[in-house]
Amino acid sequence: MSVTIQFCGAARTVTGSCYLFRTKSGSFLVDCGMFQGQKTLKALNYGAFPFRASEIHTVLLTHAHIDHSGLVPKLVRDGFHGTIMATRGTIDLCSYMLPDSGSIHESEVVSLNRRNMARRLSAVTPIYTKADAIASLDAFRPVQYETWVEVVPGVRARYWNAGHLLGSASIEIEFPNEAAENQPLRILVSGDIGPDEKLLQPDPEAPVGFDYLITESTYGSLDRPPTTAEARRQRLAVEVRDAAQAKGALLIPAFAVERTQELIVDLVDLMERGEVPTAPIFLDSPLAIHATEVFRQHASSLDANVDIGRLLSSPHLRFTETVDESKSIARLTGFHIIVAASGMCDAGRIRHHLKRWLWNKSCTVLFTGFQARGTLGRFLVEGAEAVRIQGDEIKVAARIRRIDEYSGHADGPELSRWIAARRPIRRGVFLVHGEESALTGLFERIAERIIPTTHIFRPILDDIFELSTSAPTPIDVTRRRRLAPEAVVDLDWHNDMSKLILDINDQIEAAADDRARGVVIRNLRRALEEMR
Ligand SMILES: [Zn+2]
Repeated sequence: MSVTIQFCGAARTVTGSCYLFRTKSGSFLVDCGMFQGQKTLKALNYGAFPFRASEIHTVLLTHAHIDHSGLVPKLVRDGFHGTIMATRGTIDLCSYMLPDSGSIHESEVVSLNRRNMARRLSAVTPIYTKADAIASLDAFRPVQYETWVEVVPGVRARYWNAGHLLGSASIEIEFPNEAAENQPLRILVSGDIGPDEKLLQPDPEAPVGFDYLITESTYGSLDRPPTTAEARRQRLAVEVRDAAQAKGALLIPAFAVERTQELIVDLVDLMERGEVPTAPIFLDSPLAIHATEVFRQHASSLDANVDIGRLLSSPHLRFTETVDESKSIARLTGFHIIVAASGMCDAGRIRHHLKRWLWNKSCTVLFTGFQARGTLGRFLVEGAEAVRIQGDEIKVAARIRRIDEYSGHADGPELSRWIAARRPIRRGVFLVHGEESALTGLFERIAERIIPTTHIFRPILDDIFELSTSAPTPIDVTRRRRLAPEAVVDLDWHNDMSKLILDINDQIEAAADDRARGVVIRNLRRALEEMR
């Protein structure tokens, strides 16, 4: 049986996980994620899928994160009529996350169209609406971990706990082999792999012996010092005490799901033990509030050593669900803690709080997760002196801090060990879901030591490979690519543009007087004219 894979996302620095498998008995996707980060990538969310939605029979979802599930509503709206198979945890989280994502698209388009009208550009429609997202939930069907399910006739799949997020899975897939009936073609898609020592989640697990492994590489170049739950809490305690001493807000941009709940559990625990000053902890994200409820319901399947139910009901916690409640915390002064989404600061209420506080040196911004290239979060952790939020330039005076201990991703050594534990891997390992440096980092760790170099592949967006052959055979897709290969790897021009505008503003402000400012502007104008 011929089996092809198309890398419709998460290939060579492109975000948004999505792999299309085609066989003669049907086509199916593993994940249908949203592209995040640079504007060139985000634009792909508005464009057509590189396949017809109606030709897809089934979607296998690895987990609920938006970069894995976020385009499901668009797929359903565009004519998908099949089933979406996911664990119960993933379904419960998606039932809040996808409608929330639809609301974000609707409101983003309102403000974009206001700007477009001023520039006489035509109006755009949202990628999908909240109603589209709610409608797509009917297609979900629950699967149990470690239990075979039929994907399309003759092809079966089994979910394994990936230890990354509530409900997260690596997915094992078996395709029939007509030539040798008892030797099916075996493939494992990693999904996102959790670290060994993750709060609330067990260590990742999966079987051994595959033809192909498709594995994430998010932190492939990182070698994190080993940590324990207690060491992580102590790192957080240091940051909280420092922030309290600075006497301003402690802003924690956090992914609404899991990271938020982990942080809250640790913050409340530290306050109850008297290890940090007590202060109100505002959970300022309707999605995070709902997700916290899902965690309470699934508490029995999570870490048995943490009384999650009790900690998540603490009186230190304040839930601010409505916009008015959210606005009221902007009036607060002195030390308090605000946890708000999004984790990369590219959307959500955290942007309002950053606008209110970034220029103030009594404020602390604490990053706890991965920041994709091109996001506001990435600019801040890389030390930007000023940033643009909703069109306004904001100087950065706040203390920008970062701790990696809360990561939901395995680091380089953990990923390598996870790959090694899946051997024998007979035909190939595809490295996906990582920036260039991360892919290279993971490649160098596993090449020859774990997998022969000739068996390691780093596909780019929209690459197609025939998998039924003795080694993966690339199929020519030159004319069907959505992005030129060099556009995928190069730094996005939008980022350079934002930086240039900030530098020009700085230069003009720093000039001694209006006359000096006039000189700067004339020089820039001349440089522009010379380029014509
Ligand atoms: Zn994830």
